[in-house]
Amino acid sequence: MMVCVMEHTVAHQHTAWEWFDYGQTLALLPMNGMRSSVVITLPPTEINRLMCMPEDDFNRDVSVRFKHRLGTMRLLSTRHAYPLVTVFAKRFIGPRFALVGDAAVGMHPVTAHGFNFGLKGIATLSAEIKAAQAAGKDIAANPLLLRYEQAHRRHTRPLFLATHAIAKLYGNDSLPARFLRVSALRIGSRITPFKRAVAGLLADTTR
Ligand SMILES: Cc1cc2nc3c(=O)[nH]c(=O)nc-3n(C[C@H](O)[C@H](O)[C@H](O)COP(=O)(O)OP(=O)(O)OC[C@H]3O[C@@H](n4cnc5c(N)ncnc54)[C@H](O)[C@@H]3O)c2cc1C
Repeated sequence: MMVCVMEHTVAHQHTAWEWFDYGQTLALLPMNGMRSSVVITLPPTEINRLMCMPEDDFNRDVSVRFKHRLGTMRLLSTRHAYPLVTVFAKRFIGPRFALVGDAAVGMHPVTAHGFNFGLKGIATLSAEIKAAQAAGKDIAANPLLLRYEQAHRRHTRPLFLATHAIAKLYGNDSLPARFLRVSALRIGSRITPFKRAVAGLLADTTR
């Protein structure tokens, strides 16, 4: 995936987009003014082509990919390419050692929760450490680390699995997948309790 900041002639209305097109996924995160962070997911050879493209050609290419919905787009930053790697570590802990952040749970950014999970994990671990310190106990004892591991697995696994399933389905352009993609969105947007459940899952990472 490639990330950059772009200026555009049509206002973003402070709306974030995730656009599951066929052959590409586009995301747009609004910034102050007529600027947005643009995230384009493509096969590696196409990302390499975008990374090396002269700036004028790049601006035209991205404006077309966004079907000119943001008008004419112009690159404001450097371009950065990241390989998309997901992680759910087999073990989060070792002797006097704990994994946090993406090293423990690294998700596809489609549900925009990787950083939140990192903060959540650190909050869980630091609460354990603080309690141990206050009680005059070892702050890296194995039972303490085990409690962190269990709690963080419980907090993150459902959304990790759901995110993986969404990224797989919406990255698949086969006919059955296309049918399922459209149907899932239609059903999802009509069934209010389902919508609420998804919103609840995304908004509440404290469970
Ligand atoms: C396009 C995109 C959009 C995202 N959007 C959202 C969002 O909207 N909301 C959200 O919650 N999350 C989002 N995320 C996820 C979020 O960015 C990550 O979960 C978060 O940055 C992870 O933080 P981290 O410190 O664990 O790891 P990182 O930010 O990856 O930091 C690890 C650091 O370690 C360095 N490093 C690696 N190996 C070594 C080494 N051997 N020696 C020294 N240094 C090393 C790396 O260079 C890097 O600087 C997004 C991710 C991407 C890619």
